[in-house]
Amino acid sequence: MNETYPFSLEPLPYDYDALEPVISAETLQFHHDKHLATYVEKLNKALEPYKELHSMTLEQLLTEPLTVPDSVKTEIKNNGGGVYNHQLYFRCMKPAEDSTPPTGPLKTMIDTAFGSFDTFVRDLTNAALTQFGSGYGWLVEHDGMLEIKKMPNQDVPLGKNITPLLPVDVWEHAYYLQYQNRRMDYVNNWFCLINWDYVEQLLENTKGAVK
Ligand code: MN
Repeated sequence: MNETYPFSLEPLPYDYDALEPVISAETLQFHHDKHLATYVEKLNKALEPYKELHSMTLEQLLTEPLTVPDSVKTEIKNNGGGVYNHQLYFRCMKPAEDSTPPTGPLKTMIDTAFGSFDTFVRDLTNAALTQFGSGYGWLVEHDGMLEIKKMPNQDVPLGKNITPLLPVDVWEHAYYLQYQNRRMDYVNNWFCLINWDYVEQLLENTKGAVK
């Protein structure tokens, strides 16, 4: 994600109905065209007066707090985080019929960190279900190991030794049109949509990266 101001609305990498029946076209259309679009608009509006921030990437804006004036910090945290998290969430999914379980180094790291793939699913589900209110369940890479996290609102697990790999969005707008209060059904179904090839690519990028 090397884009700088003005940020643009990244198109979905699949059609609106590609994730049905787990995520309906209507849900995806609202989620991408309304919710993500609003985060992009608000981020650009907040950054507009701050010319010194226009050459910074989204990751820099979110991880270099000393260079961001206090007057725009909250707007960047909320809206910049909203852009970052949603881009990753949409990229990390694909049609269920094209999704294949992780293999190779990623599978080995999952087994090492969690004991088995089933335990990983259980732990990420638990994080997603126990995130009180809006937020995300996360798979992250931390000092060369995989970890599960939960984060509120649009907070991003991004930092010196930590790289976000896979978010499950549990804001109500991600599932309410179809699942209403049944967050558990949405999360359980969501696992069949994971684009493990993309997650593996993110993990590869962390190797040898300057941190
Ligand atoms: Mn969302």
